Order: sequence, then C-alpha cells, then structure tokens
Amino acid sequence: MTTHHTQPAAETHSPVSNDCVRVLPDSPMVDVMDGAARIEKRVLDHGFVALIDCMPRLAPQGKTADFSIVQSARVSYGEGTKQVNEDRGLVRYLLRHHHTTPFEMVEFKFHIAMPIFVARQWIRHRTANVNEYSARYSIVPDRFYRPSVEAVRAQSTSNRQGGDGLVDAGTAEEFLQLLDRAEGLYKDYLGLTEKGVAREMARAALPVSVYTEWYWKCDLHNLFHFLSLRMDPHAQYEIRVFAEAMYELMKPIVPISCEAFEDYRLGAMHLTRLEIEAIRAGKPIATTNKREIAEFEEKCARLKLPLPQ
Ligand SMILES: Cc1cc2nc3c(=O)[nH]c(=O)nc-3n(C[C@H](O)[C@H](O)[C@H](O)COP(=O)(O)OP(=O)(O)OC[C@H]3O[C@@H](n4cnc5c(N)ncnc54)[C@H](O)[C@@H]3O)c2cc1C
Repeated sequence: MTTHHTQPAAETHSPVSNDCVRVLPDSPMVDVMDGAARIEKRVLDHGFVALIDCMPRLAPQGKTADFSIVQSARVSYGEGTKQVNEDRGLVRYLLRHHHTTPFEMVEFKFHIAMPIFVARQWIRHRTANVNEYSARYSIVPDRFYRPSVEAVRAQSTSNRQGGDGLVDAGTAEEFLQLLDRAEGLYKDYLGLTEKGVAREMARAALPVSVYTEWYWKCDLHNLFHFLSLRMDPHAQYEIRVFAEAMYELMKPIVPISCEAFEDYRLGAMHLTRLEIEAIRAGKPIATTNKREIAEFEEKCARLKLPLPQ
C-alpha cells in the first residue's frame, strides 16, 4: 500500500490492501457535530427533532461541512478557488444557479417524533430515506398532540387549506374535549391488545394526533426543497415548527449553504410573466383569477410597489 500525505504522518496500520493508495488529509479533520451522538430540540408537546449524524462528519480544521460541496463542484470547475471566502462565493453561485448535485453530497440523518397527521404531510417528500416505528411490532406509546386552548385556530375564509386567527374560548374548549374523548380510546386499544387483538389491527382505533417516530435521512439539496415548502408561512404550523427545528440544528454545520438558501430561496420571490408585464406597464395584472391577483398584490406590497391600476 502507498500512503500519500502532505504532512509528516505517523506510521499507519490499515486494513487497506496493498494495491490501494491511502491519502491523508492536508490538515487535521474535526467532527462537525463536535463529538455529539445526538443534538436534540423539543418540538410541540411531546415531539422532538434530533440530529443523529451527517455526511461529511469530518471537515478540515477551520472549515464547515460546506467544504464537501465545493470539493465535489471542483470536479466540474477544476482546481482554482481554495480559500474559505472563495468557497463561499462558489457555494452561493451554485445555489443561485440551481446547480444542485454538489448539494447532494451532504446528508443529514434525523430522529424525529411527530403526530401522525404531521407525518402524513412529511412522508410526501419522497427523496428522503425513512424508517418508522412499527405499530405492528410494538404498542404505540401514550402520546397525543394537544394544542393549548389559546391556540385553536379558526378555519381561514380566504385559504380553504389553512387556519387563520383563533376560535372563541368556548369553541376551543369544546374541541379539546373532543380530543379528550379521542385520547380516551387509548385504554381500549391497550385493553384489546391485551385480550389478543393484533397490534396491527388495534391501532386502527387510534386518532391521528398520536405520535409516531422515524429516522429520516435526506441530502442537502432535497432538504432545502423540503424546508422551502415546510418553513413557508403557508405550511401548517404543526409541521413548520419541525422544519424550523431541523434548520436550526443543521445551520451551524453548513452555515455558508444556509446563508445562500436564505438569500436566494427562502427570502426570494418568483415573478410570473404576467406580473413582470403589469409592473413594467404600470397596469393591473392581465388575469381575472382572484387568487392570482391576490398573490400579485402580496408581492407588490412586499416590494413596496404601488399597486398598478
Ligand atoms: C402548503 C402545501 C399544501 C399541500 N397540499 C396538498 C394536498 O392538498 N394534497 C396532496 O396530495 N398533497 C399536498 N401537498 C403535497 C405536495 O403536493 C407535494 O407532494 C409535497 O410538497 C412534496 O413535494 P415534492 O414532490 O416536490 O417533493 P419530493 O417528493 O421531495 O420530491 C422532490 C422533487 O423530486 C422530483 N420527484 C420525486 N419523486 C418523483 C416522482 N416519482 N416522479 C417525478 N418526479 C419526482 C420532483 O421534481 C420533486 O419536486 C401540499 C404541500 C404543501 C407544501
């Protein structure tokens, strides 16, 4: 075996066979999770997001895991930039121009506990690798999501898919009593499994507010896609808080990519052809679609542009 290195290296004993070349790093490598086995954030009443592992786990001293994006991009762009500030420019360029594959070189693995109705939304993101708690194999733990009485949202009148504002205290109380009755099914679930009903059948009686758990692994490109949809104010609050917790855990590991994500994706805005033409001509947007008009108004307000009349 041949060992290549740029610094004096200690003699190594390695299982690598003799016809392989082993290259040592130019500088010492440090753990981007700072030696932690798990970095956890509590979410909602019984939920959590825990960062379990990531790739790369080691980064050259003084760099973050962003380095591996630049490293793979250099295959296409050749040598050249090497400094951290040049790395930042390249990462920002790649993200701005949707050069996505270098971001797939970074991966994050999370352990998450969330209510089943949140998991149903989450599982739609098909590019992750998932392994979930088996309610066929084990008894579902007694954990149910309950909003506080002050946080029971009212049905939005403008968005059929969302909540907006709060219901009155009496109605909120009534809703929590309904949740009490749904949670009350748990003791029957338990009792019937003890009488021999298969766990895979008994679970059918549990409400979707019950918590499940899974391991969820995703590359950074698809994770940014997930976050841009689920951190958006239009996403349901109960999944948004999980997305925000994930983002908080990963940000110190890929700070350059996250800064670019905030600048070019999260904080950015897409203008349609009709919107551009309306702004240019100073005329109303050429559509009768109420939703499209409302979206255009929202964008003009954000840009602090007078609404074209
Ligand atoms: C606010 C909001 C409301 C929603 N409402 C509903 C709803 O009412 N009903 C409903 O059913 N869903 C709903 N969804 C889910 C939504 O339609 C998407 O399924 C979900 O957001 C996952 O998006 P995705 O497919 O882009 O992500 P991923 O599954 O992570 O895929 C990422 C990208 O990979 C590509 N891709 C992955 N798999 C395939 C494939 N098999 N074929 C082709 N391309 C693929 C696509 O380009 C895709 O954008 C909603 C989502 C949001 C954020």
